[in-house]
Order: sequence, then structure tokens, then C-alpha cells
Amino acid sequence: MQIFDAIIIGAGFSGLYQLHSLRDKLGLKVKVLEAGEGVGGTWYWNRYPGARCDTESKAYSYYFSKELYEEWNWSERYPTQPEIEKYLNFVTDQLNMRKEIQFNAQVTDLIFDENRHIWRVLLKNKEQYFAKFVISAVGCLSFANVPTIPNRDLFRGEVYHTGNWPKKNPNLKGKKIGVIGTGSTGIQVIPEVAKLAKKLIVFQRTPNYSVPANNYKLTEADQIRANEEFDKSKQLMLQHRGGHPWKHSNKAAKKTNPVERTKLYEKAWDNGGLSFRDTFSDLSVDLESNNTASNFIKDKIKSIVHDHHTADLLTDFDHPFGSKRPPIDTNYYETFNRKDVELINIRNNPIESFVSNGIKTSKQHYELDVMIFATGFDALTGTLLNMNIEGNNNIKLKNVWKSGPITNLGLLIPNFPNLFLITGPGSPAVLTNMPRAIEQHVEWISECIHFMITKNYQTIETTSKAADKWGNTVQDAVNDTFFLSAKHSWYLGGNIPNKPKVFIPYAGGLNKYRKLCDMVALAKYDEFIFTEEK
Ligand SMILES: Cc1cc2nc3c(=O)[nH]c(=O)nc-3n(C[C@H](O)[C@H](O)[C@H](O)COP(=O)(O)OP(=O)(O)OC[C@H]3O[C@@H](n4cnc5c(N)ncnc54)[C@H](O)[C@@H]3O)c2cc1C
Repeated sequence: MQIFDAIIIGAGFSGLYQLHSLRDKLGLKVKVLEAGEGVGGTWYWNRYPGARCDTESKAYSYYFSKELYEEWNWSERYPTQPEIEKYLNFVTDQLNMRKEIQFNAQVTDLIFDENRHIWRVLLKNKEQYFAKFVISAVGCLSFANVPTIPNRDLFRGEVYHTGNWPKKNPNLKGKKIGVIGTGSTGIQVIPEVAKLAKKLIVFQRTPNYSVPANNYKLTEADQIRANEEFDKSKQLMLQHRGGHPWKHSNKAAKKTNPVERTKLYEKAWDNGGLSFRDTFSDLSVDLESNNTASNFIKDKIKSIVHDHHTADLLTDFDHPFGSKRPPIDTNYYETFNRKDVELINIRNNPIESFVSNGIKTSKQHYELDVMIFATGFDALTGTLLNMNIEGNNNIKLKNVWKSGPITNLGLLIPNFPNLFLITGPGSPAVLTNMPRAIEQHVEWISECIHFMITKNYQTIETTSKAADKWGNTVQDAVNDTFFLSAKHSWYLGGNIPNKPKVFIPYAGGLNKYRKLCDMVALAKYDEFIFTEEK
């Protein structure tokens, strides 16, 4: 029986760096199991028209190696899906990692053998592997949420989910297309599909506040500057609560006079991108201040969209700005000025069922050739719970997490020894520029494993008491913000029927979180239980 030191599940940003760290820095025998046919994770699966990163390319890169950073040149301010997929393939080959990755390897079961202290890892094709450590790098946004609409079988058209887009791009030209969902993905796919469709019908439940991306091609001078600013950008990202390369504003919107405030919003709007939400320091904690941002965006939308009824629907917000993942866009609102694009409010006209040639809402019947679900993911827990994970005494993760995920620091789960989670529930994960959160986790996990090796420890486990304490910290952090006001938000499980409605990520900031994790390591992991090698 071949026993690996570590098995990593997933070959996206997380799995690749974890492989490099354990294999090349610690010299361990490691295998990566990946369900897809290639590396990339998110950027392997999300091939829909318009798929692109909202984080700027120079920040959406690995920073663990300056050489690697300098060897790659991004072509645009925000990279497209094909470019990020190419980048992750480049990293895989530069670090010679392909041979440790098994593709088409979907893990179905992880069973801990308490006597031998090893994990048995079962694949869909019935293969099995054994490992001392398992590291889940399965991603936070990787289990597609496909709404159950009755009579799907009756529909004679094509149905796609953006998170599982076919490798061979479907021909959408001249077709009647429906898109359900107006979150970050819908906002990217809608303008691109509109260019191809004969008619596009957008089914919207909740409008989102979107800010222009203001994308542009990068020049050689931009590349040189990005390389020169590597250390500075890294420092900025380490200090920023969301892992972004800019400073927090120290100005409160409420305390800024209205003329100056509007001037600053205009400047941020013209600059475009995610930094808009950092225009002022108090947008996520003070409702009066938040309203100034919401009203500014509302006015902008109304100035772009010609039809008053459509503009009203697009600004009928039910949550404060930033309490759901705030998207950025290229021509999203402008798209609704096209004669061949229609916006349907499914809040007061809900979808009832598919019919053979389209979809039926409570008020009308829409003819469609293609339906695109831009309905996101069962975020943060869905992919983990899609596997049967059994820890001590065959305790099942799906039972332990019945009322919501329980972890210590989002990294370890009581009763599941030697199972580490990268960007797991309870960590800042999706509230950040994720490569920074991923690097922090990979480095913490690798250091912890190194510590165990030097101490001759066989297993690490967190106590339920420590996990409960961390759960309270996560809830306290969110109570200081507006995140709980967005009832349908996927941060809260609000997009998935029957999912426990608890706020999942840690909202206290990646900078603060990193310090907390460092303190645990400095204290020699005293909150954790280790067993010694026999
Ligand atoms: C459309 C979209 C846009 C995004 N834009 C941004 C952005 O602008 N900025 C940002 O910071 N983040 C963004 N994200 C988040 C993005 O997921 C992360 O930035 C990052 O790519 C996550 O990397 P990962 O390796 O942790 O997970 P993923 O990239 O999700 O990779 C996980 C891998 O695990 C594999 N896997 C899962 N379950 C199994 C199993 N049971 N067996 C075997 N393999 C399995 C999957 O096939 C997948 O390849 C975006 C996400 C989406 C979906």
C-alpha cells in the first residue's frame, strides 16, 4: 500500500501553491487529485463569455516568488479567464508540478483510519489512495448552484451554468437567450451574450450595485512598473483588510462635505474597479455614510439607462452597498439600452416552470432557445459537503455541519485530524483578494506540518472548545458590519434553500486574521492537540 505524506484535493491557485510548498520546501511525497482535465480551478471551469477577474492582474498573481512574478506579463488591467488559465498552466510547468497531479480524479470519500492515523481517499472511478495529511484546496466557489425549476426535461433548448461552461463554446449567435442571475457573473456575461443574441431576457431577483471596471490594455511600461513595485504592492496587500494593493481611506463619508464627497466618488468611479468601496472609511459600518455611496451609484445608473422602468428595476436595491459581493462591469447598464434586451423582475413575477419552448413566469411565457444560469455557487461549504468526509469514530462532516460550519480559524475541524482546509468556512476567503488569503493559508499549513515533523507528531486536531470560540469571533466580526442586512447573500447561505443561514466567512479583515494565525503558530499551536508518532 502506497501512503503519501499528503494528498491535496484541487489544482487551482490553492492546490498548486500547496503542492509546491510541501514538495519543494518540505520535501514531502505529495499527490494532487483534480476533478477537471486541467489545472486552473475557477479558471478552468468558468469559461462563459465575459469571464474575467475583478481583481487587478498585478494583484491577482502569486507573490511567493518574485522571479515567477517577473517572468509573467499580464496583457490587461483585469485578466480574462483564458489568460488566467494560461498563467496557472505556466506556473505548473515552471515549477514542474504536472507529474504530481492526477486529472479526472474526483474525490468522493475521505475516511480517517483512527488506528493507523491515515486518511483513505476514494475516487469516483473507485481508485483509492492513502495519506497522512489531506489538504482541501477544493475552492469556495466551485459547487454550482443550479436552481430547481420544474419541467426542465420538457425544455427543448440548451441549458448552461456559467460555472460549468462547456469547453467547446456553444454557438449563441442569433438565438433567443435567457439569463437568470444578476450577481458578479451575470453582470459579466449579460453584455457579452447581448452582442450575440437575437433577443436577451434577463431575469432579475435582486439588483446589484455595480461600478465600472474601466479595463485597459497594459503597456510594456505598465509591466515594468508592476515589477518595480513588487515589494511595495506586497506590503500594501499585507496591510489591507481585503488583501488589495491600496491604502484604506481615513476619511469618513459622513464627515466629508457633500461637494468634496461627490468629487471623491466621481474620481473613484472614473478610476473604476474594486477600490471604489474604499473611497471612505465608514461605508461598511455607518448606514448614513453607506447611503451616500448607494445614492451616488443609483444616480449614475439612472443617468446611463434610458428607460425609466428598467432603471427603476436596476436600482430597486434591498441591501446596503457592499453587503453582497460588489461587482464591477464593462457596459452592464448600457446593455439595457439595447432594443433586443429586456429585464424581467422575478421578485414580483416569479419563474414557475420550463415549458417546451421557453420559460413560464406567474405573469407571462417567454420563448427561449437557450437558458443560462448565472446563479452562482453553494459557496464555501458546498464542495466540501459534496464529499463524504468521515473523521474520528466515523463521524460525518455533513452531520457535524448540519446547523452551519464549525472550524477553528477556518483551517481545522474538531474530530477531523490532519485535515486542513484552504480558505475554509470561518476564514476571510471570499471577502478578500483570494490569492493573498490562499498564500497565507498555504504558508500557515506548511509551517504547521513542518512543526509536526520536527516534533515527531503524528496528528493535529482542534478542540471543539477552540472551534466554538472561533465561531463566536466570526459572528462578533460580522455584527460590526452590514453584511447581515443582505438576506439573500451567498455569504449567508441565502441563495441555497435549506442551507443554514449563518454568516460563513470571517469579516474582521485578512490583515487582522493573519496576525491571529501567526500568534497561534508562535504559541506553538497550544490550542491544538497533537498525538506523537508511535
Ligand atoms: C467567476 C468567478 C470570478 C472570480 N473572480 C475573482 C476575483 O476577481 N478576485 C478574487 O480574489 N477571486 C475571484 N474569484 C474567486 C476564485 O475562486 C479564487 O480567486 C481562486 O481562483 C480560488 O482558487 P482555489 O484553488 O482555492 O479554488 P478553485 O479555483 O475553485 O479550485 C478548486 C479545484 O478543486 C477541484 N475539486 C473540487 N472538489 C473536488 C473533488 N471532490 N475532487 C477533486 N477535485 C475537486 C475543482 O475541480 C477545482 O479545480 C472568482 C470566482 C469565480 C467563480
